[in-house]
Amino acid sequence: MNQAVERISGLLAQNRFAQVVTLGSEMTMFARRNAAYRELINTADLVVPDTVGVVYAARLLGCPMPERVAGIELVERLCAGCATSGDSVFLLGGAAGVADRAAAALQADHPGLRIAGTQHGYFDASEEPAIAARIRESGARLVLVALGFPRQEFWIRRCAAALGAVTCMGVGGTLDVISGKSARAPRSARRLGLEWLYRLVREPRRLGRQLALPQFAVLVALQAMSGRRGHASASSGQ
Ligand code: UDP
Repeated sequence: MNQAVERISGLLAQNRFAQVVTLGSEMTMFARRNAAYRELINTADLVVPDTVGVVYAARLLGCPMPERVAGIELVERLCAGCATSGDSVFLLGGAAGVADRAAAALQADHPGLRIAGTQHGYFDASEEPAIAARIRESGARLVLVALGFPRQEFWIRRCAAALGAVTCMGVGGTLDVISGKSARAPRSARRLGLEWLYRLVREPRRLGRQLALPQFAVLVALQAMSGRRGHASASSGQ
């Protein structure tokens, strides 16, 4: 988390467009079958592991990361930093009123935080250029985009030129939680890596999407085993 906050603060200081991806296991599975999404993730300025699944997978596949960087905690940490640095934040996404309520909650938690603007996430493609222009003109330095994946990552990449020198990050359902619209999983469930189960019980419509999780686990295990076999035969000279 500290490394992520430091890297993003560095991106904010560089005064150029940058994209940060908070990567979950379902997103990884989608990227396997969608080359454009895969390319987008692989060329992002920073990718952080948003779920325990991604952290375990990375560890098993030889790219260990110290810990999970949960989107919501990252948003809180970044807003704390922006309240100190004076960088302003734009909130985009969620149902009508959600971004406004999230803005008020963030300002209450981080006195001095400047909110450059808000915009709900149910707009037409034809409104996209005007929204991107509004963000650019708002003077925002950090743009949090809550349109759900993969829409939010594609939206950020598509609007990169129009957005100008801002750091953008897809944050999924985070604004819903910050605004109080939906509850976060209890700490005990989070500690056990069971946030997915909590979300499934509250929103059963997520079942289809969450079927990607066991597939993800199996694929990671297979890849780790084939990697180890490859490594063993290479080291025995075969
Ligand atoms: N959303 C939106 N516009 C859309 C679709 C979704 O603003 O066209 C918002 C939705 O209201 C919710 C967020 O995007 O606040 C997606 O939340 P979800 O938990 O599904 O995202 P995930 O974290 O799974 O990517």
